[in-house]
Amino acid sequence: MKPVSKSAKLANVCYDIRGPVLEKARQMEEEGHKIIKLNIGNLAAFGLEPPEEIVQDMIRNVPHTAGYTDSKGLFAPRKAVVHYTQEKNIRGVTVDDVFLGNGASELIGMAMNALLNNGDEVLIPAPDYPLYTAVVSLSGGTPVHYMCDEQSDWLPDVADIKAKITPRTKALVVINPNNPTGALYPEALLKELVEVARQHQLIIFADEIYDKTLYDGNTHTSIASLADDVLFVTFNGLSKNYRSCGYRAGWMVVSGEKKHAQDYIEGLNMLASMRLCANTPGQLAIQTALGGYQSIKDLVAPTGRLCRQRDLAYQLLTEIPGVSCVKPKAALYMFPRLDPKVYPIQDDQQFAYELLAEEKVLIVQGTGFNWPQPDHFRVVFLPNSDDLTEAFGRIARFLENYRKR
Ligand code: PLP
Repeated sequence: MKPVSKSAKLANVCYDIRGPVLEKARQMEEEGHKIIKLNIGNLAAFGLEPPEEIVQDMIRNVPHTAGYTDSKGLFAPRKAVVHYTQEKNIRGVTVDDVFLGNGASELIGMAMNALLNNGDEVLIPAPDYPLYTAVVSLSGGTPVHYMCDEQSDWLPDVADIKAKITPRTKALVVINPNNPTGALYPEALLKELVEVARQHQLIIFADEIYDKTLYDGNTHTSIASLADDVLFVTFNGLSKNYRSCGYRAGWMVVSGEKKHAQDYIEGLNMLASMRLCANTPGQLAIQTALGGYQSIKDLVAPTGRLCRQRDLAYQLLTEIPGVSCVKPKAALYMFPRLDPKVYPIQDDQQFAYELLAEEKVLIVQGTGFNWPQPDHFRVVFLPNSDDLTEAFGRIARFLENYRKR
């Protein structure tokens, strides 16, 4: 048999959060090493379990939900999503505008596939949640990265966005709250982004999957609430705010300037039909979650576990010489900078390998988030305080040795 090669479509596709360094960690675990994992936002794996009512809902519904549903999803959970958009002041959404998916990830792929012709450009933040860069490439589009400014709390650089718009630019991706930086965008900035989209007829893809994971009393504004004359596709789901990553329950809402987007919406309907439907127990859990007690509030409150862990991780990281970090206002991550004068790293994947091999701590290198320089990395602050203290102690020791090289 001739060698079987992967498709050329995958040539520019990468997803380093589950890339080669994770593979190495798996091998090490098989050899019996215990690894502290700061690499992935998988809450339940750290004892941050979903609300009990959602677990019970899944258990109760499994026996009755073995059939397919409507491709866009069951009516009642889609209606619950409509109510959610009303709470967030997004106007004019009907059940027809809501698509349920196996996590937001599936819907993000559908939204790009339905839109892009070969060579169409999509503006994506750097650093990004790398799924966006990957699916734009896989859909035949060209990811164009705009910079977020670490000096300004990682807010998008609007001038850079404007400078990168070309006649082929179709859409602008806005990830707010942000993974990997933990940034939360103020309304004034969101309005500027809307204005850019309005002037250049861009679709705004708004990823708001961390919109309840907010610290320090912060509030979140949905960008789609700020205009009726721009087309928005907003992604959200249960994975993070309801700690239910494995239940694969997400949604996508089309809002704003829908009347000129009927052909695109037809494309979305087609792709939704081709994958038949999202898993049915997960769909029903959406209804229960959105109608129920919002328990993430307890975790992100000043005395809550997530907030305390954020504060601890921030303190331990920024005590290390040559390490600086913007304190996250939201989400589950920090994206610290390693001063290149102190740590002259050439290849940050190699850096992550060495940290793993020497100290058994797993991080993700910054270039895995399409950050252009090898001078950042991402950590989650999900492990409990003892494990975080141990992990950052090991990182500090590794960096001390690195400085002596
Ligand atoms: N969007 C962002 C910004 C994320 O960080 C993640 C997961 O980490 C996702 C989407 C994927 O969400 P889901 O589990 O709903 O597919």
